[in-house]
Amino acid sequence: MTAHQGPLPKVLAIDDSELIHRLLRVRLQHEPLEIHGTMDAREGLELARRMVPDVILLDIEMRGMDGFQVLQALKDDVNLQDIPVIFISATASMDDRVRAIDHGAIDFVAKPFEVVELKARVRSAIRIHQMVKMLAQKAQVDGLTGLWNRTYFDRRLHQEVSEAVRHGRSVSLVMCDVDGFKRLNDECGHPFGDAVLERVARILQGGRTSDIACRYGGEEFGIILPHTLGTEAVDVAERYRVAIEGETWPGTPGRVITASFGVSDLTLLAGTQGADDLVAAADAALYRAKANGRNRIEVAPVARPAG
Ligand code: GH3
Ligand code: MG
Ligand code: MG
Ligand code: MG
Repeated sequence: MTAHQGPLPKVLAIDDSELIHRLLRVRLQHEPLEIHGTMDAREGLELARRMVPDVILLDIEMRGMDGFQVLQALKDDVNLQDIPVIFISATASMDDRVRAIDHGAIDFVAKPFEVVELKARVRSAIRIHQMVKMLAQKAQVDGLTGLWNRTYFDRRLHQEVSEAVRHGRSVSLVMCDVDGFKRLNDECGHPFGDAVLERVARILQGGRTSDIACRYGGEEFGIILPHTLGTEAVDVAERYRVAIEGETWPGTPGRVITASFGVSDLTLLAGTQGADDLVAAADAALYRAKANGRNRIEVAPVARPAG
């Protein structure tokens, strides 16, 4: 027997027949599964929202709300729509079976069922669900640095900006671009360039746990700082700037690598207050940091010259 790693997968059975629950409890008790059940469809939905199971066993014929309605409610909920649903029914016609699969059920088991078969189907559904979760996670992570990728950055920034606007809070953005990276690649080779990106990523990841470091693209990084004013964001960027400048690089003694930073604060933006404006403002500031000599931080908007 193989030892189970991590929390046990959770199975939720929604079926108005008491017999099914007793059968599952007895016959699945030695499986590496956590079994939950209810005989009421609405309560089943409530439980699903609360516990987010790894697989749902769903009866079709139930009083009040039938299995198809429950399935629809699950598919309408972004937090639940990926949970595999196995329909279990005694009376389902071929039409019902086709309809169940077409509406997103992963499998169909006829009552009375062989428990060994049901177990195999549950295991298969859990495997598929875990793979889907892993792929969804992978699709948002940058392969080289392990930071969140651009897709995640865009989504998360929109989310943080809307939340900040709604609650009248600040959110700041730090854009970071490695200086002279093209020449570094040319002189030291791409593998060295890649190693630099990995190291810089680790530095940018080492901030407060609430800061969200992402690879924006190439040698550019974006760090989202929720609940943070521009002045604090500048301090954060300064720590990163100093850490990158102070890093030593194996095989190239004495080489100093630097990065430039652009900082924007949502509450300092004039007029519009969208995620795109926050990026544009940080980008413009970063451009100025480059123009003003690199290895420095500039803040948006441009302060008006004194006098
Ligand atoms: P600046 O100081 O103005 O930022 O100059 P720069 O050379 O850093 O900027 P530029 O945008 O001209 O060059 C960025 C280079 O980054 C070009 C590209 O070949 C390199 N690059 C982008 N992604 C990767 C990557 O994943 N690995 C490596 N090694 N290089 C990359
Ligand atoms: Mg029933
Ligand atoms: Mg660049
Ligand atoms: Mg660069």
